[in-house]
Amino acid sequence: MTGRPRSSARSARSARGFRPAHCPCGSGAGLPECCGPLHSGAAAASTPEQLMRSRYSAFVLRDEAYLLRSWHPRTRPGTLRLEDGVRWLRLEILASDDGGPFGTGGTVEFRAYFSEDGRPGELHEKSRFVRHQGAWVYVDGDVEPGT
Ligand SMILES: [Zn+2]
Repeated sequence: MTGRPRSSARSARSARGFRPAHCPCGSGAGLPECCGPLHSGAAAASTPEQLMRSRYSAFVLRDEAYLLRSWHPRTRPGTLRLEDGVRWLRLEILASDDGGPFGTGGTVEFRAYFSEDGRPGELHEKSRFVRHQGAWVYVDGDVEPGT
């Protein structure tokens, strides 16, 4: 998940500070019990799926700094501009593979539902994650066509 479906040059700062009662990743837990500590740096993701969830939440919360921090330096963009017209609505994890207890790479397949300027859409992606300096980071993903 890279900030697509599309990126534009408009700033997203006005949406900052928005804090929902439940974590946007859909776990059912509150943000402070779920992705919040990952965003603040108080905790680290222990699995690729956890990182994926926290990155999805960061898209919802427009936490660009966290998105960049949790991105592998090799594939990380210089800056990230989140599309103002896109609202992420729901995350559905379809499959995840954390590579086992000593795994250094994993994948997460997910569907993310959004609305863009009022029109519904969905992103179906299989994302790749690796451990980088001890922490799980996002590398890149294959967007599944036809969704
Ligand atoms: Zn969460």
